[in-house]
Amino acid sequence: MNDFIEEIKQRDPGQKEFYQAVEEVLDTVKPVIDRHPEYRQAAILQRITEPERVIMFRVPWMDDQEQVHVNRGFRVEMNSSLGPFKGGLRFHPSVNLGIIKFLAFEQVFKNSLTTLSMGGGKGGSDFDPKGKSDNEVMRFCQSFMSELYRHIGPYTDVPAGDIGVGAREIGFLFGMYKKLRNEFTGVLTGKSLNWGGSLIRPEATGYGNVYFAAEMLATQEKSFENKKCLVSGSGNVAQFTTEKVLQLGGRVLTLSDSSGYIYDEEGIDEQKLAFVKELKNIRRGRIKEYTEKYPQATYTDADLSLDYNPLWNHKADCALPSATENEINEQDAQNLIDNGITLVSEGSNMPSTPDAVRLFVEHKLLYAPGKASNAGGVAVSGLEMAQNSMRLSWPREEVDSRLKIIMKSIHKTCLDVSDYYGMSGNYAAGANIAGFVKVANAMLDQGLV
Ligand code: NDP
Repeated sequence: MNDFIEEIKQRDPGQKEFYQAVEEVLDTVKPVIDRHPEYRQAAILQRITEPERVIMFRVPWMDDQEQVHVNRGFRVEMNSSLGPFKGGLRFHPSVNLGIIKFLAFEQVFKNSLTTLSMGGGKGGSDFDPKGKSDNEVMRFCQSFMSELYRHIGPYTDVPAGDIGVGAREIGFLFGMYKKLRNEFTGVLTGKSLNWGGSLIRPEATGYGNVYFAAEMLATQEKSFENKKCLVSGSGNVAQFTTEKVLQLGGRVLTLSDSSGYIYDEEGIDEQKLAFVKELKNIRRGRIKEYTEKYPQATYTDADLSLDYNPLWNHKADCALPSATENEINEQDAQNLIDNGITLVSEGSNMPSTPDAVRLFVEHKLLYAPGKASNAGGVAVSGLEMAQNSMRLSWPREEVDSRLKIIMKSIHKTCLDVSDYYGMSGNYAAGANIAGFVKVANAMLDQGLV
């Protein structure tokens, strides 16, 4: 396995997040490879880590002062053995090929776990929507889609949102796709409700993560009632994680953005959450403003010179990271454990470094990897595709109940598979193995393509 990782590093230098994601999966699927020589013979590992297709393109656009800017666009079509490529688009200045490849790789296993028919892909750009006017965002999205449209389609590749790509961006992207193709199809998910979106899609990742975490708690005959929770981020996933924790009787103490975090000992109630939604989704302000409205809360600036994030250093019961990758390092993990956290359920993708994960597993925390616990978002995207194909819209209760069933099923699969391979309670191993086996078997069935 070590040789294999070295080969990948030499072949694709500088893609550290991608190596991290591959190593994490390979570490846990080793017993499966040992039991199945046919996987080795068909070079499944080599094939599963090589994207089917990588698209990189120039995205020129003009700002409101008529200055021309050039960003880079990406779409990594990783694996289509279970269905059309499916996965979000991320607009953030940190985006590069390694990050998109890591996200696409994770997406393959996540989509496999959902029980729906979806391959894995991911895309985006190093464009930063922060501080841009609506017109600038529209011009960028139109330029981005004027290249992407030739590579995607309802039976080929169906992108969605991710960091920096919400309802506004999906609207602009869809409008341009429709104009260029001259057809109205379910080519993007996360669409607005008026024109093909699904109820519960905005809520799905956050709600799904809390449903998954509630299942983990139930294995110890516990619930979210009166649990204190640390949540990071303040975007889509963080907002709906907070909402569902509240509905289940828990208390969320923290939220953050890339500038810093707020701590509210009294908890973020429905009214405060409504303020955050308006602040982030409409006014597009900074989380710091929470303390101007609610002065009993404290605000701490992000300090990159620290070797830990103080957000993870408060007494609480559960941690639900919902911002970005590698936001919990080994020191943060130790702080969480020292502060009495017994559950970590990942809303963001790969938020915990490998050392942090090792600590969670060693200390037998209830630890859910993002590819299992945040799969609710893509699962409801799959349900949006199904509704689009049928030209129907299901009621809120129906989508929510399907989401719950899917999250319960992923939870059970992770537990059953971890038991079967002698690693009971190791959700990370269960998720990787279950996700991997389904994709690997489909690849064997479909021959050398
Ligand atoms: P949003 O853009 O809505 O929100 C992202 C939040 O995280 C913002 O508060 C943002 O702060 C913060 N953030 C982003 N980058 C950083 C960083 N480098 N350091 C600190 N804070 C940061 O994105 P989502 O809520 O949709 O996504 C959050 C995570 O969940 C991502 O990892 C995404 O891949 C994952 N995810 C999302 C799904 C979805 O359906 N949306 C599905 C599955 C996973 P700021 O505004 O300052 O940048």
